[in-house]
Amino acid sequence: MIDRIEQLRSEAEGEIGAAATSEELEQLRVRFLGRKAELPQLLRGVAQLDPAERGKVGAAANAARQALEALIEERTAQLAAAELSAGLVHDAVDVTLPGAPAQPLGSLHVLTSTRRELEDIFLGLGFTVMEGPEIETVHYNFDALNHSPTHPARARTDTFYVQRSGEGPEVVLRTHTSPMQVRAMEAHPPPLYVVIPGRVYRPDSDATHTPQFHQIEGLAVDEDITLADLKGTLLSFARAVFGETRDVRLRPHFFPFTEPSVEVDVSCFHCSGKGFMADGSRCPLCKGEGWLEVLGAGEVDPNVFAFVPTTAANAPGYDPEKVQGFAWGLGVERIAMLKHGVPDLRMYFENDLRLLGQF
Ligand SMILES: [Zn+2]
Repeated sequence: MIDRIEQLRSEAEGEIGAAATSEELEQLRVRFLGRKAELPQLLRGVAQLDPAERGKVGAAANAARQALEALIEERTAQLAAAELSAGLVHDAVDVTLPGAPAQPLGSLHVLTSTRRELEDIFLGLGFTVMEGPEIETVHYNFDALNHSPTHPARARTDTFYVQRSGEGPEVVLRTHTSPMQVRAMEAHPPPLYVVIPGRVYRPDSDATHTPQFHQIEGLAVDEDITLADLKGTLLSFARAVFGETRDVRLRPHFFPFTEPSVEVDVSCFHCSGKGFMADGSRCPLCKGEGWLEVLGAGEVDPNVFAFVPTTAANAPGYDPEKVQGFAWGLGVERIAMLKHGVPDLRMYFENDLRLLGQF
């Protein structure tokens, strides 16, 4: 009986070694080690043998089975690796072949290209680009920007609250990019010239408002900064965006974190600031005003500097007796609407290729 076991073992070893595919190997496993195969049958019959033979036959059959199992496992791994590399070669895709049919090239979303264009303008004026968190604490979004505790922008109808007070610090989706004013000043000493582009959120939705939109914040802090520096900066910006013959005007306004605060208008590029067209009709873009409102700005309120702690990172810190600054917040959608004549702000987010393909 031991001879028969050895015979089976050597026969199986030969065939397993010669198996060319994992399928063949599986057939051999069934043939030699399957439930109805001879070797396992022999093993099951060991109990009926003479006690003298039982030990020897059992040991030989077990050893043969274990050897064959190990051999099959080893060959399976070898064959699988070989089949995998063969498959990779066979299924390889030639990425240099042209697509069929060729697809039209995509383009940047108009808001992305507008944002980049505006960033480039301010980089050219010596500003650095920074980014900040979209989920913001009430401290940075309102308190440190000199908003009184009862300021209407804090209302739950005007701001998305993420975490209410009592559950830790009050957290909101930032309603403007202005929280980065204080964050930037905490991280860097003056002089500071930064622009901060980013998404902001407010619960509004109509032709000129969407719950998510984009702003570019600007902040300049240095010694001897005046409103004239702000006006000069924004004039350069307006001319770069809307044409070399543009002018800007400042109108008094109120924001909690700037003093004085201004609304900034640029002369209408559609009617060259006249308010009417060549045929005498009213300019449809500026509605006869001759001016287009583009952004809000102002001199940094000294109270905001007082909210910036002096740290190792920003030493010597922001002493309102020594530094002044100006800041602005502009809407990327607004600039792109004016520039490209987009009538409804919501169209930017509808992903309609008939609109997006025009830019
Ligand atoms: Zn006009």
